[in-house]
Amino acid sequence: MSILTFRGGIHPRYNKERTAALATKPLAAPDELVLPLSQHIGAPAVATVSVGDTVLRGQTIAQPGGFVSAAIHAPVSGTVSAIEPRPTGNGTLGDAIVLTNDHQDTETSYSGLGEDWAQADAATLRDMVARAGIVGLGGAAFPSHVKLAPPPDRTIDTVIINGAECEPWLTADHRLMLESANAVVSGLRIIQHILGAPNGVIGIEANKPDALRAISQAATGTPIRVVSLAVKYPQGGEKQLISACLKRRVPQGKLPMDVGVVVHNTGTAAAIHRAVVDGRPLLERIVTVTGTAVSQPANYWVRLGTPVAHVLQHCQTELTPAGKLILGGPMMGIAQKHADIPVVKSTSGILVLQPKDATTRPASPCIRCGRCVDACPMFLVPQELGAFARLRMIPEARAAAALDCMECGSCAHACPAHIPLVQLIRLAKADIHAAARKKM
Ligand code: SF4
Ligand code: SF4
Repeated sequence: MSILTFRGGIHPRYNKERTAALATKPLAAPDELVLPLSQHIGAPAVATVSVGDTVLRGQTIAQPGGFVSAAIHAPVSGTVSAIEPRPTGNGTLGDAIVLTNDHQDTETSYSGLGEDWAQADAATLRDMVARAGIVGLGGAAFPSHVKLAPPPDRTIDTVIINGAECEPWLTADHRLMLESANAVVSGLRIIQHILGAPNGVIGIEANKPDALRAISQAATGTPIRVVSLAVKYPQGGEKQLISACLKRRVPQGKLPMDVGVVVHNTGTAAAIHRAVVDGRPLLERIVTVTGTAVSQPANYWVRLGTPVAHVLQHCQTELTPAGKLILGGPMMGIAQKHADIPVVKSTSGILVLQPKDATTRPASPCIRCGRCVDACPMFLVPQELGAFARLRMIPEARAAAALDCMECGSCAHACPAHIPLVQLIRLAKADIHAAARKKM
């Protein structure tokens, strides 16, 4: 099997050995779960329950607030104890449904299509995905049914499942591919059926040979291509994956569907399988809990809405003010001030670092070495974008394609002057969006 890759990228220390061999365990549900109405890209969901209502596990408790939105379901049975603003992982307060768990797990009934799903038409299957509240589980949290409904003038010929899991420390997708390989392959076939896409590809980084074997075995007898990808960050970026697997380049400002491709994460594919075959909504996900401050690292099936503090208690982790708590991986995750926030659909990992591993070095002036340019997988010039951002040169930053930056952090990682390039480019992007709003 040849190893495929893309141009640019970096080789950070992967640190996956702490959890890669740990089988996923179910985590005991907490007494109280907090389910933000906005845990996806798009319009917030709209609560369909009221304070005092009793709910069953699997029951819909919030409907999508628009086409680009996602339903939310009760991950436990119990009572709605509040609907109120609560802290979220993006640093803001957001309306959330608070459930008091009765610890009975009394479940609603589910109605799936079983293995006969291929008899159903695309609209029926897409509707099942929407009703299950599935979003991109790789971290993007984009509602999956929207990706399954491309405009009529776009023909999708290939679906790629992203099994790269290139973020250091995280192994949730790796464990899923080992433990639910058939569900991942079945999910891909369902997505291909919905989109009418003849080609299916599953891309996995070469540092997961056991996952490559498990998925190849599950795909035996199907036309699905399982490919081995170079171990390089950000191999799992949509455009990088398309470049590596298909040698197609998505032009600046365009989407994968513009080159006939749709990309979904492994977890999303497995969730789509469960929604269509078993009729089960998205109630839980695999979360890697790891880092130098975690005494007992683990991969857990965690009910959505579980407080991060509850998860960390089970992993015997002490948070210290000088350490670092990150939701997601170290490259694209979001640092948190405290653990009083819930696990949501996009939470692939909880990373806790000791103070000695959490320090940032002071920046010095740019030495024009060009390493950031070599590292950028989007063909940008990060050093120039950083300078435009610092000087608030908005038209120049726009012309230099700042909006194409995927905030992968490769440039900052490569920079010997420790310039906070991602933060600067984020500032430029915010300036561009603000200027566009002013013009409207
Ligand atoms: S400029 Fe953006 S896309 Fe390019 S390396 Fe930096 S963060 Fe990644
Ligand atoms: S890597 Fe850092 S020091 Fe080198 S050119 Fe880019 S911004 Fe300047």
